Amino acid sequence: MVAFMVQTTCPNCGEQAECVLWRAKVRFVCSGCQASYGEARPLKGFVYVAFNERQPGFAKVGLTTKDPEQRMKEISRGAGSIGTWKVGALFHSNRPEADEKRCHDKLKRFQEKSEVFCIDPVEAMLKVRTALSYREPLHMASKYRAEFDIAVAERRQKARHLQESDTPEANAPDEIGVSSAGEVKPQRGLFSNLFG
Ligand SMILES: [Zn+2]
Repeated sequence: MVAFMVQTTCPNCGEQAECVLWRAKVRFVCSGCQASYGEARPLKGFVYVAFNERQPGFAKVGLTTKDPEQRMKEISRGAGSIGTWKVGALFHSNRPEADEKRCHDKLKRFQEKSEVFCIDPVEAMLKVRTALSYREPLHMASKYRAEFDIAVAERRQKARHLQESDTPEANAPDEIGVSSAGEVKPQRGLFSNLFG
């Protein structure tokens, strides 16, 4: 069980106020002037990118509304599962189903089955970040942190570069926010032409 003491400054009177966050919805109320200036609610869930040492080159991307570590145990026990799935990156989500769908759409061309994707875990994390409008992960496995941070920095720099140039239409979709659906559809067409 985790609880937090949050120290804030009341925007109304400027006094220091303290609130305890524990489970249920919490309102920020100034103990001095009684102004109410915000609230905190438990997150609905998470989108995870999981990796498995025994299955390199694959990532699982899914949602959980429970403890992510518990979810890893469940998917590791799943039928036909080899090795142990671990959290590579965790993104907070207040709309887990909708967010998972955005991620799966973005990763469609790598999809093996349901939430299994044939993609390097860091690549999957980057695509999930993009699909979730550049949301930063709450947590990352330390072994992927440096590679992920470098890739994000490179993308930001590239995006800045393109924004500075006078052809905004040529912006890279991965960092400027073009809808992921528009990116994925042509690739699906390509696949069905090849294998359909
Ligand atoms: Zn106040």
